[in-house]
Amino acid sequence: MHTIDSSELIDASALSKAAVAVVARLVDNDYNAYIVGGAVRDLLLGKRPKDFDVATNATPEQVVALFKGARIIGRRFQIVHVRMGREIIEVTTFRGHHSDDTSKVSVKSENGLLLRDNVYGTLDQDAARRDLTINALYLDPRKKVILDDLGGLEDIESRLIRIIGNPVTRYSEDPVRMLRVARFAAKLGFSIDKDSLDGIAQCRHLLLDIPAARLFDETLKLFMAGAAAPTIESLDRHNLLEPLFPAAVDSMMDAAARALIVTAMRNTDARIDRGKPVTPAFLLGALLWPAVESKSRELVKTGNQEGSTVNAAAQQVLAITLQRVAIPKRFSIPMREIWELQPRLEKCASKRAKSVISQRRFRAAFDLLLLRADERDELRSAIAFWEEQQQLFPELVGSQPGTEIPSRKRRPRRRKPST
Ligand code: ATP
Ligand code: MG
Repeated sequence: MHTIDSSELIDASALSKAAVAVVARLVDNDYNAYIVGGAVRDLLLGKRPKDFDVATNATPEQVVALFKGARIIGRRFQIVHVRMGREIIEVTTFRGHHSDDTSKVSVKSENGLLLRDNVYGTLDQDAARRDLTINALYLDPRKKVILDDLGGLEDIESRLIRIIGNPVTRYSEDPVRMLRVARFAAKLGFSIDKDSLDGIAQCRHLLLDIPAARLFDETLKLFMAGAAAPTIESLDRHNLLEPLFPAAVDSMMDAAARALIVTAMRNTDARIDRGKPVTPAFLLGALLWPAVESKSRELVKTGNQEGSTVNAAAQQVLAITLQRVAIPKRFSIPMREIWELQPRLEKCASKRAKSVISQRRFRAAFDLLLLRADERDELRSAIAFWEEQQQLFPELVGSQPGTEIPSRKRRPRRRKPST
């Protein structure tokens, strides 16, 4: 292992006290323990880490024995949540290599996908099982050193996203790593190493094997982490949108639709930056709206659609999407309501105005109309009309703005790596 002095590289005051305390307790009990992963990467980049992870050679049971507020979670890979004051530190045991005689703890599918993964190992093995070189840095906060065996520090310096090991093998084990490559490249503004990129072309179809529930979790990480706009461009550039949101692929090729989607993402990023609440319902509603609109036009043309064509189009677009990404009802229902209000907002009928603005999704629907009007001048008069109506009847205006649909306050479950 390469050992590098961290005192010049990392601002020790930015470290989580809880994470440092967890490492200290483990080390005082003769285990090895390090702060690892995203926190070390972000600290090296001068960013504030979202959370702190600890890696150790203590088994989950041994970790639990040391900390009062600790519990084992996870099936695919067991981890321990240690509660320290208001923080929760995720402690994972070093993961090892897979071999044939470990079938009880590690299970692979026919095409190399890791289904279960509880093989423990050494620090070297743990590093090799991580996804990116920049995520495989181990910080010893007491000795103030970073262990780097895979060139992560150099890649941080040259701003490069590089998969550890053979990209095709690593993507086959866990195709979600391709999404992580696109996400970190976008979020950090790094470029992608050539082999890591070439592997994506060969493996992107494997994302079709990933359960839709995991892809929804991953979608939240892609779009709700403050860098949705660069991320959607990155997914599109590397043809990774197709396995997630097939209905949005054509939209990204149409200038006006693409502008609407990217602006919605940019607005979301700006809100996150200002600490304002955001909801996936509005964001995904905007992402899929151009598909709904174009499907709806198609239905009008064929002319045999009874009732609202937007309604029917919404149903079709959602059906295609839900096969890939399991959007929970608490988001998909408001999405539909926002879509279904669009034709009513286009009409501007004074008689019905009061009933429209008192709908609970009115503000969200109006926010989508604003985005649409950016690209379509003929919608400007509708904007003026609804702005006036809102001023006339402020007490009637339904719900919060689009980006603030109340949702159950629940942080996305953190899914652990498969290796
Ligand atoms: P952030 O939390 O800022 O999104 P992170 O790097 O901490 O970034 P996590 O999802 O919290 O990402 O994962 C923690 C660490 O676990 C990563 O840094 C990486 O080393 C490892 N890891 C996560 N997912 C995978 C995966 N699919 N395959 C291999 N290693 C992974
Ligand atoms: Mg993390």
